[in-house]
Amino acid sequence: MLVTGLPPYDPQNIFARILRGEIPCKRAGENDHALAFHDINPQAPVHVLVIPKGAYVSSADFTAQASEAEIAGFWRLVGLVAKELGLEASGYRLLSNMGVDAGQEVPHFHLHIFGGRGLGRMVSRAP
Ligand code: 5GP
Repeated sequence: MLVTGLPPYDPQNIFARILRGEIPCKRAGENDHALAFHDINPQAPVHVLVIPKGAYVSSADFTAQASEAEIAGFWRLVGLVAKELGLEASGYRLLSNMGVDAGQEVPHFHLHIFGGRGLGRMVSRAP
């Protein structure tokens, strides 16, 4: 089901369960404020998700409510993981889906890192 607007945070969402260690993930990096792990259904040779450890539904929630330390920690991990995965030379794409029009499925803020091949158009053309 797609995430609508700014619903209350659901502590049973799949990424909250990954953070609590209830569901396994293939880790790509971690710091005090964020966790990075490989997407279960990769859309590119490299497809990693970076999530804050705090309870934020979406990018809108995170950017409005997270502390400066959480925001800095999150973005530091994004850059570090992309570098450690060897994506800096060839490039990579960062993407975050927020709400229905973007197709957000998991109601815990996350950033996708895609890389490992040419990634084509940024968004599909309007039908
Ligand atoms: P969204 O559409 O919300 O931006 O992206 C959600 C992403 O989470 C999808 O790319 C999906 O493959 C990934 N995902 C969903 N459930 C799991 C899971 O249990 N483990 C991992 N590693 N990724 C998941």
